[in-house]
Amino acid sequence: MSQPRLTVLAGPTAVGKGTVSTYIRDNYPAVWLSVSATTRPPRPGEIDGVHYFFVSAEEFDRLVAEEQLLEWAVVHGRNRYGTLRRTVQAAMDEGRTVLLEIDLQGARQVKETMPEANFVFLAPPSWDEMVRRLRGRGTETAEEQQQRLETAKLELAAEPEFHHTVVNDTVEHAADELVSLMGLRPLER
Ligand code: 5GP
Repeated sequence: MSQPRLTVLAGPTAVGKGTVSTYIRDNYPAVWLSVSATTRPPRPGEIDGVHYFFVSAEEFDRLVAEEQLLEWAVVHGRNRYGTLRRTVQAAMDEGRTVLLEIDLQGARQVKETMPEANFVFLAPPSWDEMVRRLRGRGTETAEEQQQRLETAKLELAAEPEFHHTVVNDTVEHAADELVSLMGLRPLER
């Protein structure tokens, strides 16, 4: 059976989507990982064009107005994030195995326009573990953490909208399972 070329990875906030996609970027060069545009300022160590394209509010407005985004959303009521249509299309045209790591609102938009894509939900091993991971990150204020937990509760309920669920117990395991669902062979360990 041929695998769909585009896979969407979504799931609750703080479940570790970013960690899994970073692991895939570093270990699975066969996967083309989309780099999103965002109005969020870079965190320490984040590189423009690698982790995100960091853009101003005005630039993001222009991307929306020119319909350059496949999907976009305001995440945690704060910053805007969006997938660049042209780069994703070019990667698909080249026959690459494409992965989008986006939030649930974005995943729902892609489902409207590309229902044939492969939708994968990344789930935490447990709610307590998810709270622990969120607190452990330490890059957000208490208020931001609370906002993210509220979002996460709603997002957990969305699991049935997805074709597959991968439990993020360890990053290696979750990444291996995800690439298997994308039709690639997991790394030999
Ligand atoms: P962070 O600010 O921690 O890098 O990401 C916050 C959230 O934004 C994560 O849930 C991530 O999946 C989501 N996100 C990143 N890029 C995109 C995008 O292009 N579109 C949408 N809808 N969400 C995104």
